Amino acid sequence: MNKQQLKSVMISAVLGFSGSVLAQGNGHWDYSGHQGPEHWGELAPEFSLCASGKNQSPINIAGTTKGELPTLALSYKAAGSEVINNGHTIQVNYQPGSSISLAGHSFELKQFHFHSPSENTLKGKSFPLEAHFVHADEDGHLAVVAVMFEQGDENQELAKAWAQMPKHAGEQAALLDPVDGLALWPKSHEYYRFNGSLTTPPCSEGVTWLVLKKPVSASEQQIRDFTAVMKHPNNRPVQAVNARVIVE
Ligand SMILES: [Zn+2]
Repeated sequence: MNKQQLKSVMISAVLGFSGSVLAQGNGHWDYSGHQGPEHWGELAPEFSLCASGKNQSPINIAGTTKGELPTLALSYKAAGSEVINNGHTIQVNYQPGSSISLAGHSFELKQFHFHSPSENTLKGKSFPLEAHFVHADEDGHLAVVAVMFEQGDENQELAKAWAQMPKHAGEQAALLDPVDGLALWPKSHEYYRFNGSLTTPPCSEGVTWLVLKKPVSASEQQIRDFTAVMKHPNNRPVQAVNARVIVE
């Protein structure tokens, strides 16, 4: 696969543009059974990294190394405009114009989506919900910011998306009240940083992961609303860290 093709696969996989997401047969994958995570690498040639990759996500974040991580500079607008049920997650697509900056390099926010229970774990601790804010630079390199949710007060910003959450795979809705991604972040933007991959096939590597240390809250009902629509857990199990360094 050349660089251009890789870019196309990575962006379509992450942004949910791929028609294969809902297709049966070749390229179909699931979270359990014969098409579950332990079989992803065998389901299609382009999914091979799911089995052979050495920098796979998610991971258990532990044994971190202290580093001089730059402050996460971000410029987000309230521009979550569309909510989609793609059969694997609930995703909010973002209008252009919101970005984060890492060491002077800009990544535009494309979408955010959810996993329950969480995919990454913090020192062995799982959370009931994890949001992934997916950003891409001009060359298609990805930076994902993960935000953990713990059960507590109702989350008012999440409620805007949940109010129009499509119940069935393949459905989408234009949001009447745009969601502000920043309002879903905790006040503290302290983070862990490591290299990883997409957590869904094709499990492409070269993804910069930034996992925020502090969780935000979602109510028991909001967590239940999500799991009821998904009908099953949508978290890939944690993967081997191998030679990677987790910086905090
Ligand atoms: Zn995700």
